[in-house]
Amino acid sequence: MFLLACEGRIPRFDAALFADTGWEPKQVYAQLDTARKIGAQAGIPVLTVSNGNIRHDTLNPNARFVTMPLFVKNPDGTRGMARRQCTGDYKIRPLKKAVRELLGYPHPLRVPRGVFVDQAIGISTDEIHRAKDSDVNYTRNIFPLLDLGMSRSDCLAYLRERGLGDVVKSSCLGCPYSGNSRLRFIRDTDPQAWADLIEFDKAIRNGSPRANAEGKPLRGQFFIHRSLRPLDQVDLDATRSRPSAEEDDPDGCSPFSCRSGPAATVPVPQRPTAASRPSRAGT
Ligand code: SF4
Repeated sequence: MFLLACEGRIPRFDAALFADTGWEPKQVYAQLDTARKIGAQAGIPVLTVSNGNIRHDTLNPNARFVTMPLFVKNPDGTRGMARRQCTGDYKIRPLKKAVRELLGYPHPLRVPRGVFVDQAIGISTDEIHRAKDSDVNYTRNIFPLLDLGMSRSDCLAYLRERGLGDVVKSSCLGCPYSGNSRLRFIRDTDPQAWADLIEFDKAIRNGSPRANAEGKPLRGQFFIHRSLRPLDQVDLDATRSRPSAEEDDPDGCSPFSCRSGPAATVPVPQRPTAASRPSRAGT
C-alpha cells in the first residue's frame, strides 16, 4: 500500500507511520530503512512512533507491565491465554498520538468536529472482514487495497515485480501469535534473536517480574508457544508443510484491524468520499 502511494497509483500520503515495539525481527528494521529511502524520493516521510520496548518492559520489575497474549498453563493443566493489552499500549496509543500531532491538535487539545485524517490500512481482499471503522472522530479508516480489489497474492506479485518479494511480516519477536513457520524463520535466519527469544520464554515462565515483586504471583505458567512447552524443547519442524494451528500464524496483531469487533459500516470495496480531507496517513 505504501509503494502504491509512492508510485502515485493511489492518492499519496502525507506521512506513513510505523509503531515500533522495539522488538521486531532485524529484517523488519531493514525493510523500514528501504521504505524510508523510497518514501524520501516520493516525498512521503516514514515516521516511527513508540511507547517503549515491550521486551524490556515485560521483564523489568520496575517498568509498567502490559500483558502480551502469552499462553498460560493453568494449575489443572488446561491452556489459557493472557489478556492482550500490548497492541493497544505499544501500537494504537502512539499511533493516535501521532495522528493528533500531524493534525495540529496534540492531546489535550480538542480536535474540532470535521477535522480528521484518512488513515489508510493495508487489508487485502482475503481479509475483508478485518476492515473496521475508527473509534475516534479525528480518524477515518480507508482501505486502498480493497478499493483496488488486491488480494494477498496480488500484493506479493506486486512486491516481487519491484524486487521486494522477501518482505517479512511485522510482529514482535516474542509474539505468541507466531506459528512454527515464523519461529523457524527467526531460528534459521537470526541465531542471536533466537537465543534472545529462548531466554525471554524462560524468564516469563512464572509470571511477570513486576507482579511477582508486588506479591501477585501467577497461578500457572506462561509460555510463548501454544503447546505449553519451553520454546527450546518444541520440535518446530514437525509441522513443516502441514497446515495446522501450530504451523501457521493465528490471528495476529494488526493495529486498527483486529479480527474481533464490528466490521466497517463503510461499504467496501467502495471508497468513501471525504467531506473534508486535511491529511492522510498510512499505518
Ligand atoms: S505483535 Fe504480538 S506481542 Fe507485539 S504488540 Fe502485537 S500482539 Fe503484542
